[in-house]
Amino acid sequence: MTLTRRITVLGATGSIGASTAAVVEELIASGAADIEVEAITGGRNLPALIDMALRLKPKFVAVADESLVTELRSALSGMPVEIGAGAGALAEAGARPADWVMSAITGAAALEPTLAAIVRGAAIALANKECLVCAGPLLIEAARTSGAQLLPVDSEHNAIFQVLGHPDRVEKLTLTASGGPFREWPREQMSAATVAQACLHPNWSMGRKISVDSATLMNKGLELIEASLLFGMPEDRIDVVIHPQSVIHSLVSYCDGSVLAQMGAPDMRVPISYALAWPDRAPVSADRLDLTTLGTLTFEAPDLERFPALRLAREALRAGGAAPAILNAANESAVESFLDGQIGFLEIAAAVEEVLQSWEGSGLGAIANSPSSFDEVRSIDAAARIAARQAITRRRVA
Ligand code: NAD
Ligand code: MG
Repeated sequence: MTLTRRITVLGATGSIGASTAAVVEELIASGAADIEVEAITGGRNLPALIDMALRLKPKFVAVADESLVTELRSALSGMPVEIGAGAGALAEAGARPADWVMSAITGAAALEPTLAAIVRGAAIALANKECLVCAGPLLIEAARTSGAQLLPVDSEHNAIFQVLGHPDRVEKLTLTASGGPFREWPREQMSAATVAQACLHPNWSMGRKISVDSATLMNKGLELIEASLLFGMPEDRIDVVIHPQSVIHSLVSYCDGSVLAQMGAPDMRVPISYALAWPDRAPVSADRLDLTTLGTLTFEAPDLERFPALRLAREALRAGGAAPAILNAANESAVESFLDGQIGFLEIAAAVEEVLQSWEGSGLGAIANSPSSFDEVRSIDAAARIAARQAITRRRVA
């Protein structure tokens, strides 16, 4: 049976956007799918956005950076395509009538366009994790109200989704983590880590923000919160284990002692195609797993002393309320500063910890109070970024 979809790709110019386009093109070329593209968005990488528009032939193209719209218009002048720019155009991309929407903009910036797709009941392929961390309960409630299906694309959550046959019989979830590029580095060495070293992930090629998060293990911390929200699991029933080969993408332990895992080569086309074809599967040419070549799979406990970001995320999940939103916003701000060369690698988690610790006195209410509206999420996010800027200024390298 041919798969028929009308899709939108939010964040089409990024790493997930490129893998999504590759899956779409392959399924169209093989005749396995009939896919129309309603809309695509990009941040400020104009050449990549133009390339995606030419390849995917969407009806609507939105660019976040308004100063680029004239150039975008002239580059696509020969195409029957509508063009928009700025925050309103990004939200319009989410609101337009696609039945499947890939959410792959980095950071809390994904919130508005993703929410626009959720409220009209579209299936949401959720690669972005930050918007779930900052507004999780509200987004889940919005999806319940509209009937939007949330399809996890993050490889760990996609793995759990694939093997979650008996959700009521789950004892615990185990998220695997590669350990990132600094898995074996002592703290002293990490203190001098460069941006290039932090972005050089051993197994996955990804955008810079998530690459830095993988190096601090904040990525696994955000994923812990993401898993708790997506699968309704308390913090103390979600384990994290370091598995450097990235072959087992996560595991579900059931009440009878059975453990189900999903395996595969580390290739995001697999979870993307699973979300696209769900509840079916689609034929994609991702690398096949060769167990005998692989030989050995290894596992170790994460070191919370060397990687405090994972401990902070666990504490934020346990604290609940506004803590995950504060953690996320402070981390986004600190990672940006690290990428800009303003602070050292170890200062990322230190700045996040400082913001979380100082929050009770910030005047915006206790950390325990959950945001009750998206407006409240936005003001917590903005205030946490201001607090992070202050913490960063104090930690700035000369
Ligand atoms: P990326 O940096 O390669 O791409 C990000 C995309 O978002 C680009 O299209 C960029 O133009 C757009 N963007 C960035 N900031 C924006 C803003 N302020 N406004 C509008 N658009 C903006 O990142 P990526 O690696 O593709 O990751 C995207 C999301 O998917 C992240 O939330 C990440 O955590 C998640 N994710 C990625 C991977 C992966 O393998 N790359 C795996 C799991 C989850
Ligand atoms: Mg992941």
